[in-house]
Amino acid sequence: MSAPTLAARQRAALPGWVTTYYDDPLTIQRGEGRHVIDADGRRYLDFFGGILTTSVGYDVPAISAAVRAQLDTGVVHTSTLYLIESQVRLAERVIRLAGLPDSVACFVNSGSEANETALLAALCRNGSNHVVTLADGYHGRTIATGAVSSLPGWQPTPHGPFRVTVAANGRPGPDGRVPAVGDCVADLERRLDQAGGPVAALIVEPVQGLAGFHAPPPGLLHRYQQVVAARGGVLICDEVQTGWGRTGRHWWGYEAHGVVPDAVTFAKGLGNGFAIGGVVGSRSLLDSLAGRSISTFGGNPLATTAALATVDHLLERDLRRCAGEMGARLLDGLRVLARSHDMVGAVRGHGLMLAVEITDPVTGRPDAASARRVLAAARDAGLLVGLGGAAGNVLRLAPPMTVTAEEADTAIGLLDAALNAAGTRVP
Ligand code: PLP
Repeated sequence: MSAPTLAARQRAALPGWVTTYYDDPLTIQRGEGRHVIDADGRRYLDFFGGILTTSVGYDVPAISAAVRAQLDTGVVHTSTLYLIESQVRLAERVIRLAGLPDSVACFVNSGSEANETALLAALCRNGSNHVVTLADGYHGRTIATGAVSSLPGWQPTPHGPFRVTVAANGRPGPDGRVPAVGDCVADLERRLDQAGGPVAALIVEPVQGLAGFHAPPPGLLHRYQQVVAARGGVLICDEVQTGWGRTGRHWWGYEAHGVVPDAVTFAKGLGNGFAIGGVVGSRSLLDSLAGRSISTFGGNPLATTAALATVDHLLERDLRRCAGEMGARLLDGLRVLARSHDMVGAVRGHGLMLAVEITDPVTGRPDAASARRVLAAARDAGLLVGLGGAAGNVLRLAPPMTVTAEEADTAIGLLDAALNAAGTRVP
């Protein structure tokens, strides 16, 4: 079916908020390595890895073979009423990788569900429904996770089951000033004193994903954790985007902040595209759910088999190191582009989470319309990237962690061409 026909049928059959990138939407028919191929046979370098889901690339033989072997048993799903070997093995693997003291792991089907599970455990643990979250955070699209998401335009629920205190994320405020860590902490303490009572949890992204790949400044999360722990709350690190080595230096984003979370939530890249999420966290915290969170599909044989094969691939090839090296190479390339394109206001990177801010060259303000033009021009040039940022002006690059040096250099060249096609160049 042609892409325009499919787009028209989608508009008729799905709600209007199920939008696609590009005015002329793309239908992806096949994937090979870091490339996807559309219905007309055009190849694109996928530098958003699906949506940070294709962590180790398309069509990975070992993962396909493991999934096929599971399908050949005839068992796609049985439920947690029965033992599932791949679920137990995956839990052991995740526990070892996360390295949290006396921890257990459980599985669900998405990032939102993973955060729901961790938040529910925190609520059950001390009876408080007071959650602290960071400005510009995004944690999912359900009632609870929406209530603790503060990124403008991404709050599915204006009112949630929580009392929420939004803490500063260490970035410039409306006055353009970057607050000192000590001031952010004092502000949080003041707000919590005013609110009174215990706190259930602090939930944070170690690098904020949808907000445009910003990390809280060094020391902030550690100090926030101390404030919240003093009021009885736990630290939940939402590693839905940052987990599995993507930030380069570590397997988990939290490690760069010098904190030890009580729970880590994950999804996206774990199954290399298979729907799976989960929580690894302290046994006492997750035990406080006491059977309240059994998931029908969570931990199913197919998804956990795909996830085990993906984690094997990540470990065997040390893709965390690859994310660090290729991330540094891409960031160097982006810095060169920033010097030659006046619409590039800033670039930054945390491993293979790389951001390009598109701003108005005269006012320096975020320019979402130009960012969309660059996104479309990049697609025309053969490069797929993501979009994000509180103002919608941040191009996001997050290729599969198997990306090669040659592909990284090609992507920089294609982005250069897209910036040229979409805007002006510094003489
Ligand atoms: N947490 C973070 C940091 C995310 O980026 C997302 C999705 O983009 C979610 C949670 C929600 O995950 P899902 O869409 O799988 O429910």
